[in-house]
Parts: sequence; structure tokens; C-alpha cells
Amino acid sequence: MSFLGPHTGNINKPYSYLFGPHWKDKKGYRVVEGIDKYNHKFGGNDWNVPVCKLCNEPMHQIFTFDLEDPKLNDINIEGITEIPLVSCLNCSTSWDTQVFKLNPQNKSIEIISQDDIENWTQDDEDKIPSPLPNIKMSLKEMTQDDIPINIIKYENAIELFGTEYLCRILGAPLYAQEPLDRECPVCKKEMNYIATVSGESYYNSFNLIKEVDFTIGEMYLYFTICKECLTIKVECQGT
Ligand SMILES: [Zn+2]
Ligand SMILES: [Zn+2]
Repeated sequence: MSFLGPHTGNINKPYSYLFGPHWKDKKGYRVVEGIDKYNHKFGGNDWNVPVCKLCNEPMHQIFTFDLEDPKLNDINIEGITEIPLVSCLNCSTSWDTQVFKLNPQNKSIEIISQDDIENWTQDDEDKIPSPLPNIKMSLKEMTQDDIPINIIKYENAIELFGTEYLCRILGAPLYAQEPLDRECPVCKKEMNYIATVSGESYYNSFNLIKEVDFTIGEMYLYFTICKECLTIKVECQGT
């Protein structure tokens, strides 16, 4: 893999590059435990999540973001007040692209596609519970070390992500391997990047989520949404 990019698109499309000065002005936030004026959270079960086709158990509502928060104005979608990030974390469905449809009227999420071919499921004793405990989260502006404006900062950011925090919203997606495919699989419009989720590094020795052992393997999950048809795509990249 070349770090010099672009992998897709052209130089005017900043999302085509793993790192570079174009990320400097894209404001993003660390999602960390803490009380916030807005209702951001880890876990919970107020959305009706689909049952995983492989494990036959409810998927995980991992993080949910309150779009009333002006920090998230870039996500602004008519008719939606919050965005849940959903995936199964106990099997190989998260290793391949998953596509969901958001139904804000009845707060439900349905599966459009799961591409898994590995058919791997976690041992029962190591499963991450669903629903996850509901924990209040707040958004903290990213530090200079979280923004991959060059290769050094890129490597710093990778080191800190999963060690000091588990989710980054807006800003640079921090691609582990390559830029995301941002074409909506349903309507073919350009999707909007929302957030990236990491498991805890080093076998959870930092215990970033106190009530649960949030180790999901060496991967990042990237969430994009189509504002036209409310499709959410989850892409996985190994770290
Ligand atoms: Zn599953
Ligand atoms: Zn679409």
C-alpha cells in the first residue's frame, strides 16, 4: 500500500487521502465518557436494532449521537434528531461491509445487506453483551495528535485511537488501509462520513469503558450515511 495516495478520486477530494494538510480544517471530535449538555451515549437499547443473521442475537447499538449538538451541524439531516451506530460485535459480519436502513419514525434499523463469508462467531464467554450498558458520552475537540496532517501525525493518531478514546466523529476518518467507498449502495449518491469506532487496544488495559470489556479485534469500523435515503454503511478495515 502506498501512503502517497490518492487511491480514488482526485486531489480535490480530501477523502481520497490517508493523511495530508487537507485534514487540518476538517473539525472532528473525540467521543469520551462524560456528562454533556447533549444526549450522546455509548450503548443503550432505545433503538430497535436488527437481529444478526449469523449469531441470531440483537446487534449492538454502539454509540448514539444527538444531532441537536451544534458541533454536529455538518451531519444535519432533515427529520432526524439522532444517529445510532449499529453493528454486531460478536461475529464476522462486522469484518465485511454492512448496509442498514434507518427508520427514524419508529426508531428502528433494518439490514439491507451483510456480506460476511467467514461465518465466525465469538465464544459465548467472550461475547460482548447486547444491549451494551448505557453510558453518557461527550465530544471533545480533537488534539493536534489526532489529526493526520502528515505521516508522523497519522501514526500518532493511530496509536492514540483505541488507547485514549474509542470513537472519533467528523474530522478525518483515520483510514487504517485505504479511503472509504462513499457511494451509496442504494441510490448511488455520495454518502457523508460520520464516525469511526475502534476497540480498546492492548487487551483493554486502559479500560476506557468501565462497565464492559470493549475489545473487538484489530479493526476500525467506519460509518457513513446517505442523506437522501438514510442508508448507513459500515465498512471495516484491519489495523
Ligand atoms: Zn453477529
Ligand atoms: Zn442513498
